[in-house]
Amino acid sequence: CGIVGYIGHREAFPIVLEGLKRLEYRGYDSAGIAVYNGENIELCKTKGKVSDLENKVKAEMNTSGTVAIGHTRWATHGVPNDVNSHPHYSNSGELVIIHNGIIENYASLKKELIARGYTFKSDTDTEVLINLIEDVQKNENVKLGKAVQIALNQVIGAYAIAVFDKKKPNEIVVAKLGSPLAIGVGENEFFIASDATPFLEYTKKAIYLEDEQMAIVRLKKGIKIRKIKTDSVVAPYVQELQM
Ligand code: GLU
Repeated sequence: CGIVGYIGHREAFPIVLEGLKRLEYRGYDSAGIAVYNGENIELCKTKGKVSDLENKVKAEMNTSGTVAIGHTRWATHGVPNDVNSHPHYSNSGELVIIHNGIIENYASLKKELIARGYTFKSDTDTEVLINLIEDVQKNENVKLGKAVQIALNQVIGAYAIAVFDKKKPNEIVVAKLGSPLAIGVGENEFFIASDATPFLEYTKKAIYLEDEQMAIVRLKKGIKIRKIKTDSVVAPYVQELQM
């Protein structure tokens, strides 16, 4: 399984699609991509291979846009099918998430969200997390990064996630616990991936998030890293990759 993301000035879709191919070696049963086209988040996902996704995209999606996130899934909650594939929207359709890992307490969180009126399309633990983030955003009136942090502090499990909010189109919020997550740092462009292979041809500068860290990856303003539990700020350590 793997995650890939891009935010910058280039067409994002081809970078993310190619990145997913480079992560195929990690194993997966489904694949999907979401692209922000300046107005809406377009999304395409399917059970099967990245090549199946590519064919489906050709038939049903306009891929143009400079922000995208993509995912290869290794199903843990919910069978491998199109609906359970990532990315997943929140109920409002404003947020979208990709996730590798497991939310162990998803059932109790889901129950609470259903009681508050949320509905679910998939059987995944991941769709619970994105709606929890949306619920926090709405109830506590906080910024996206804070909402992700508050939500993650209610979660038991493992994750590498990337969250995009179309109300905040200049940023992607990422977080890591257990699953790997690297950020490629370019010239006013950023890459997100499970390992550096999807972005090596664009930049050799990489930040590897550590467990229990999250980052707000923001155009122009750069990268802000925090510890999820303690909220302390962490200075980004940018490595020069020799590969
Ligand atoms: N637990 C999530 C799901 O089953 C993510 C699986 C993964 O790591 O790809 O959808």
